[in-house]
Amino acid sequence: MSQFWTPLVQRLTPYIPGEQRSGENIVKLNTNENPYPPPRSVLAAISNVNGDALRRYPDPESKDLRASLAQYHGLKANQVMVGNGSDEILALAFMAFFSDDAGLQYPQISYSFYPVYCDLIGIQKKPIPLDANFEIELSSYAGDAGIAIPNPNAPTGIAIPLESVAKLCAKASDKVVLIDEAYIDFGAQSAIELIKNNPNLLVVQTFSKGRSLAGMRIGVAYGNEQLIEGLNRVKNSFNSYPLDVVAQAAAIASMADEASFQSSVSQVIATRTQTVTSLEQRGFKVLPSSANFVFASPVNVKSKAGAEDIFNFLSQQGVLVRYWNKSLLKDWLRISIGTNTEMDRFFSVLDSMT
Ligand SMILES: *Cc1c(COP(=O)(O)O)cnc(C)c1O
Repeated sequence: MSQFWTPLVQRLTPYIPGEQRSGENIVKLNTNENPYPPPRSVLAAISNVNGDALRRYPDPESKDLRASLAQYHGLKANQVMVGNGSDEILALAFMAFFSDDAGLQYPQISYSFYPVYCDLIGIQKKPIPLDANFEIELSSYAGDAGIAIPNPNAPTGIAIPLESVAKLCAKASDKVVLIDEAYIDFGAQSAIELIKNNPNLLVVQTFSKGRSLAGMRIGVAYGNEQLIEGLNRVKNSFNSYPLDVVAQAAAIASMADEASFQSSVSQVIATRTQTVTSLEQRGFKVLPSSANFVFASPVNVKSKAGAEDIFNFLSQQGVLVRYWNKSLLKDWLRISIGTNTEMDRFFSVLDSMT
């Protein structure tokens, strides 16, 4: 606390990212990074960036990247905007479309950055509980409030079918529905195709998970032209160069290498299937995941250990997973899907727990 902090800053409870411990024997399954590096084509594009390009400011509109994203999804370039990670896009969208009076509805168990942005920007928080199966109850999203929902949800991994998202957009046609598709590459259906009929729908995606570029900070928003223009008004009142030259080059190369992208995502999905089976064999309850992580509870494990004990034991052995000491989550672990070798190490440490 400092006398120089404004009352707003004094009140903030900032987001806490997962631990970034590094070292030779660390298995990092706690921040949902892709376990595979980006393909060589992307690394080549990064190393081809030259001094002259770095000397200059980047293209403030990221025109080439937006053209490539628009073409990939069958949209127009003015229906696409990019930002410094989807976290930045979310913050800009919250500023552009949500207000204190109407507030924002979002799942009570969800991405914990949403309430943080609400507090920073001054948006009334209206969290909506999940149902008993940890599923999002879309019928509870009603009234004046804006809506932000991750699909698949985090940390549950459970996806919402496209028809349900379509119904929600139609029902909430007078306010913005933000669908945060950070994990969409791992099996759920994107809502991008609904944009043409739903001027209130904003779809947010990231290069951090499926495309293995968390370190580059590249996020994308797709929506009707007017929504994108609104986002750009905020962006250009805040930081007109959100994506640096290197990030733009990497993202363009990533979009051009569909085969490598598909192969990395398929490998993660295959490992996820095996991981679920192995966890269930050991007495874990695992929610159905469409993401690159699983949410699992040790309901019937041989050691009788609880989630927190398992988290601590794994952590001491250099295997990092995510645990929240909060009433609704305290019996659960969120485990990112690593390489097969990393998952073998995870299970061997788990099995050494008596
Ligand atoms: C990881 C994540 C993000 C943030 O992604 P960045 O593009 O790396 O900022 C946004 N939403 C959810 C639900 C996430 O899990």
